[in-house]
Amino acid sequence: MPRPVEALIHHTALAANLARARAAAPDARVWAVVKANAYGHGIERVFEGLRSADGFALLDLAEAAALRALGWRGPVLLLEGCFEPRDLELCSRLNLWHVVHCAEQIDWLAAHKTHQPHRVFLKMNSGMNRLGFVPTAFRTAWARLNALPQVDEISLMTHFSDADADANVKRGVAHQVDAFDAATRDLPGERSLSNSAAVLRHGLTNDWVRAGILCYGSAPDFPAHDIGHWGLQPTMTLRSRLIAVQHLQPGDTVGYGSSYTARAPHRIGIVACGYADGYPRHCATGTPVLVDGRRTTTVGRVSMDMLAVDLTPLPAAGFGSEVTLWGRGRGGAVLPIDEVAQAAGTIGYELMCALAPRVPVSITE
Ligand SMILES: *Cc1c(COP(=O)(O)O)cnc(C)c1O
Repeated sequence: MPRPVEALIHHTALAANLARARAAAPDARVWAVVKANAYGHGIERVFEGLRSADGFALLDLAEAAALRALGWRGPVLLLEGCFEPRDLELCSRLNLWHVVHCAEQIDWLAAHKTHQPHRVFLKMNSGMNRLGFVPTAFRTAWARLNALPQVDEISLMTHFSDADADANVKRGVAHQVDAFDAATRDLPGERSLSNSAAVLRHGLTNDWVRAGILCYGSAPDFPAHDIGHWGLQPTMTLRSRLIAVQHLQPGDTVGYGSSYTARAPHRIGIVACGYADGYPRHCATGTPVLVDGRRTTTVGRVSMDMLAVDLTPLPAAGFGSEVTLWGRGRGGAVLPIDEVAQAAGTIGYELMCALAPRVPVSITE
């Protein structure tokens, strides 16, 4: 029998989450963002669930080619554009739309020989200070692109740094929207501004929204709101089983570093899942977990291949009991990935992207 740890990808949940994006942005077209191998889910595994999207956005050229190989003929957008001039040949061949965020990328386009003009998304740095032209340089960049025979349609985009919070908590989105609007007011072209948080939390939509994390059943602004609040469903379950049970006496400790000490006699279960499976080592005692669909918590340190859970509230649980590290458990129980991420001091994005290659993955309802 193989080691019992496994991951499940829920394709109906992917479709339902995408429908939530559509409901929140009814007049927009929706990019399903599938970068980082679909946030760790696997592009080929999410493709069915997300194929009603208007397009797929990602940044790895091999992933773009994989989407075409799956038979996707609709729009594909490279969110970081080309990394070197010859990437433009692949864009021409596979009809990939690409972001243009720096002068070098315009130079490459100007020297590119193609029969098919490219659709580009010109990116503004409206305050994030990662990629894009600052507002004062944006118009010149647009004019350069507009003069190129290699370029067909120019769309305009920017990306928010603080869309997961309101202006009274962090900076919010208003200052970036204002900068974008002021510099693009009289430019033609479709607009794309919003990520998941901007769509859900700020109700901000333009011609194209870029829905990433919401597709994968994680709340972009957790803990202010959870997936229940946004009507999202988990798309990834990480689960395993108890492979041993220990009876602790007061003073007994658990695991490396003896970080947990029992105060009363109780049972713990040993789960076949550890940080080498992608479960964060930073999760301390008290991280929520489901055993047979019922909530309990981890105890002690997470090790490479195992972790321990408290069985005090679960007298019926024992050897072989099903353990849900995140996602869906027995009887319809749900443990949002966001709660586990919070216990590890991180966000759902990182946990799903870090699912380890040794974990077998299957697609299910
Ligand atoms: C990743 C990414 C998104 C999606 O962000 P989410 O928070 O996952 O919705 C949108 N736009 C760009 C440019 C991105 O890199």
